[in-house]
This record gives sequence, structure tokens and C-alpha cells, in this order.
Amino acid sequence: MSKTYRSTRSSSKDTKSFEETIIQGLASDGGLFIPSEIPQVSEETLKQWSQLSFQGLALEIMKLYISSEEIPEADLKVLIERSYSTFRSKDVTPLAKDVTGKNEHLHILELFHGPTYAFKDVALQFVGNLFEYFLQRANKDLPQEQRKRITVVGATSGDTGSAAIYGMRGKKDVSVFILYPTGRISPIQEEQMTTVPDQNVQTLSVKGTFDNCQDIVKAIFGDVEFNKKHNVGAVNSINWARILAQMTYYFYAYFQATNGSPSKVKFVVPSGNFGDILAGYYAKKMGLPVERLIIATNENDILDRFLKSGVYERSDDVAATLSPAMDILISSNFERLLWYLARDVLASNDDQKAGEILNQWFTQLKTKGKFEVDSAVVKHALVDFDSERVSNAETTSTIKETYANSQNPQHYILDPHTAVGVCATKRQMAKDNDKSIQYISLSTAHPAKFAEAVNEALSSFEGYSFEKDVLPDELKVLSTLEKKLKFVEKADVELVKSAIEEELAKMGL
Ligand SMILES: *Cc1c(COP(=O)(O)O)cnc(C)c1O
Repeated sequence: MSKTYRSTRSSSKDTKSFEETIIQGLASDGGLFIPSEIPQVSEETLKQWSQLSFQGLALEIMKLYISSEEIPEADLKVLIERSYSTFRSKDVTPLAKDVTGKNEHLHILELFHGPTYAFKDVALQFVGNLFEYFLQRANKDLPQEQRKRITVVGATSGDTGSAAIYGMRGKKDVSVFILYPTGRISPIQEEQMTTVPDQNVQTLSVKGTFDNCQDIVKAIFGDVEFNKKHNVGAVNSINWARILAQMTYYFYAYFQATNGSPSKVKFVVPSGNFGDILAGYYAKKMGLPVERLIIATNENDILDRFLKSGVYERSDDVAATLSPAMDILISSNFERLLWYLARDVLASNDDQKAGEILNQWFTQLKTKGKFEVDSAVVKHALVDFDSERVSNAETTSTIKETYANSQNPQHYILDPHTAVGVCATKRQMAKDNDKSIQYISLSTAHPAKFAEAVNEALSSFEGYSFEKDVLPDELKVLSTLEKKLKFVEKADVELVKSAIEEELAKMGL
């Protein structure tokens, strides 16, 4: 029963192995995979874990979710070491304590020290190695023409694409194709994606919108023949391996903030697809004594509205905000939390019944654009969560305020996503007015990735310079490198499919 996975929409007892869960991504009934059981960690174990390195902690956590018959511990250890060797910080995800010198209870958890300077690296560096591991094992004694391969296809409006490319680059038997809307992503994001020279990487600049790109990717996934031929894989935020890899920093940051002595901790998480904060929910359910997880949203606030009204309703239009990685209509990973809420409150702990309820809710979402849950369900959610919605104006003023208040040794500059979280954190602190609580505000990107928003907030400060104060040398170099991209003249599935096949042939795949 344990270390296997089930679908959120299934009313059967069927389970899958970890490998099937990762390679398949989405369950065949349209649901998401969740562990059959959430492993429990004792206080004693937590005490031991508090002494571990990031990598050591990742190993202990992942062992609880992956059977050693599937991945022996020694192999898992190598995968983890390799995945985090690409990070620029020895702590992988360091905790910046009290950046303004005025708030010793506010910590910033810096998740942006990976290759693409955004939090998605923490998961995608691991996912790339995992894919390669599974393929190498399957292909061990096979002749070249019978080797199994994965063709990763994804659409991006920015961060996911570059993190996926850096996760998959150079991986044997894996190729990666990332679609993005021509002229609609930031220059630095385009540079990050298109300057990767590895042969197995190809960016496709598609004349159209992000939604067009996403629709094309969906159509490719639904294309049975193309899929069979190329074994199309997804690395989007619903993949279980991403959630699993993200759990590590909740434990690690908790231990750093509390220094071994038990105290109240709240995590504040800038949220879009709910993948980041969901990892925190699993950490809490495993036994990490987190007081509350705070969902921070921008003006695309479906999660905030749900926690206030019990209605889960997609709006007609996505608002273009200063924190574009959180501009979503629905929050794909929220389905996983809904399953637990349904099971606990409405299904008297019956897994099969919870699957039926989820199926009803998501059928309604599809046909009516919304569903409403019982107030008891919302009440139960509020035991673990709270939420704050942050406007564009507040995002800008938070970047300003943090810059102005921090001088020692250097101004601290928030990216707009992190600023949404910090603004939400300050509101919570004011509401709680409780000095015994430690706040860990997650920083999901380096400010250099969002030049426009950061400059809008800071250009009026005397002495401020983006080039000097924000842009790391490693990113400065990108604009001088050769770009590798393929234009697709029209947002058309057939054109994209033939572009992929043409490139696969060139790759010799
Ligand atoms: C993806 C992303 C988020 C949102 O994370 P979710 O897991 O989708 O909630 C926030 N900030 C940045 C910079 C991101 O790239």
C-alpha cells in the first residue's frame, strides 16, 4: 500500500509505482497523482533531521515516498547530489535573516540560486536526472534502434521553460521542445532559453499568444499517434516529482529559522499553480510543526476567493500583473488539496468516496466554470491555510520599501513575486501581533529576471543601477551568446509537430 500513488479522481483502489507516476504525469482519468499514504515523521526523527545538509534531508524525505526496490538508496543519493551540484549556494536554498534589520522575525527563503535563477530549478534539476535514470535503466542492454526515449514538450510564458531546459539539457535519450509566444516574454527569459547549445534542446518561437502555445501542447498530448511515436513527456507543475523535491526546503528552512528550539512558524508563499505551497502542506502533514501556510496571490486571486467564499470559479480573463509567473486562471495543483479536504470532511476518510466527490466538482468546473463547497470544507482548509491578495501597486511599494529600509551591507532587492509574498507577510504580522511567531517568506525568483517591474519601483532612487545592483555577471553574458531558435509562422499544431519531427531527425532521434 505504501510508496504507491493513486489518482485524485479515481473511485477504484488502483495504484501506480513512483516511476509510472512520474513518467505518466497526469492520471488517465484526468486526475492528479497523490501518495496512497502520507508518511509520518516523529519528533525524534525531526530532531535528527535538523542536523542534516539540504542534500541529506532531501534523501531522507524522498526515501519515504520512493520504494528502495524502485530506486536503491545509493542511486537516489547520487541523483540528489547531482541535482543540487548546479546551485550557486552551498545551502542550496539559504535563509536570509532579517534583511531590513528591522524585523528579526521575517526571514526570506531564497529559492533562486539554481541555474535559471528561479525556484522551479529546485524541482526541475531533479526531474531531469530522474528521467535520465529511468531511461538508462530501461535501455541498458538494448540496441540503439530499440532505445526508449522521452520527448518533453512544454509551453512557457517565462520561468517554466528555462528551468525545464536547464533540467533536461544534455540528458541521454531525452529531448526537450519549449514553445513560447514570439515577442511576449522578457528579453532575459528568451536569452536564457535560446542560448543553451545542447543538441537535445530546441526552443520554438510561435507567432501567437501563450494560450495558443498551451493549446498546441495540449493537442500534442492528445495526439495518440504522435505520442506513441515520440513518447511525449510533460514536466509541468502537476508532476509529482516536482512537489516531492520542493518539500525539502520547508524542513530545511524551518530548522534554520528555529535553531532547534520549537517555535511557531508561518510560511508565506507567492502562489500561482499551487505547486510550491502544496509541498509545504505535505511537510506539515508529515509532522513538521508549521503553524499556518499563507497563500499570497496577485490580482489573479482564484485561491483567495475560494478561501473567502467556498466558490472555486475561473474568471473570464487572466490579468497581466507585475508577477507574471502567478498569472493563472485556475490553480492546477489545488486539486490535490481539494482531495484531502473532501476525504476528511465529506467522505469520512474513505479514499474511494473522495475520488467520486472530486470527479463531481471537476465536472462542474468544466461545464459551469465553477463549483461550490460546503462551508465545513473551507473551515477545514483554514486550519492549515490563510490567504492574502496583493495588488500591483502594493507589489511596487513593497520593493521600494524593502530597498529603502535595507542598507546593511547592501540594499536588498525583491523580485515582484517575492514582493507579493513579503507584502502578504507584513499584513499577517500586523494581524497576528505575536512576537513568538517566525515568518518565512519564500523568494521565488532573482530580481534580474523581472527588470521592468524592479526598475519601475527603484529607478527613482538616486544611485540605483540595474546593471550594477541587480544583474549578475552570469546573466550579463547571455546577450552576447549565439541564439538557437526556430520560428513557427503560425500557431498551428501541424506546423509545430513537423518542426519537432524535423529537429528530432537532426538530433538523430
Ligand atoms: C512558478 C512561479 C511561482 C508560482 O509557483 P506555483 O507553484 O505555480 O504556485 C511564483 N513565482 C515564480 C517566480 C515562479 O516562477
